[in-house]
Amino acid sequence: MAKSLCKWRRGEVEANLSALASITTPPRAACSKCARVASEKGYLCRPVPLTSESTKKAQKAKKKADKKDKKGKKANKEKKKAKKRKEK
Ligand SMILES: [Zn+2]
Repeated sequence: MAKSLCKWRRGEVEANLSALASITTPPRAACSKCARVASEKGYLCRPVPLTSESTKKAQKAKKKADKKDKKGKKANKEKKKAKKRKEK
């Protein structure tokens, strides 16, 4: 089995970036000790599974945040329009 991601040293991370990318995507497990993520729990020293359910929840939360963001932008546009009217 490959070396645990948790035991990589600073230099190794930079030297193995492409390997790191393939190890960490898709993120299926997280290390409960040092918060690293990996596609397989074998790469972590204290792995906890990132279930598809929790991922879905995260995506839902993100969508909600996006909606809020759009509303904020719309409000800004309205403000700009109001300002223009005043200038005329
Ligand atoms: Zn770890």
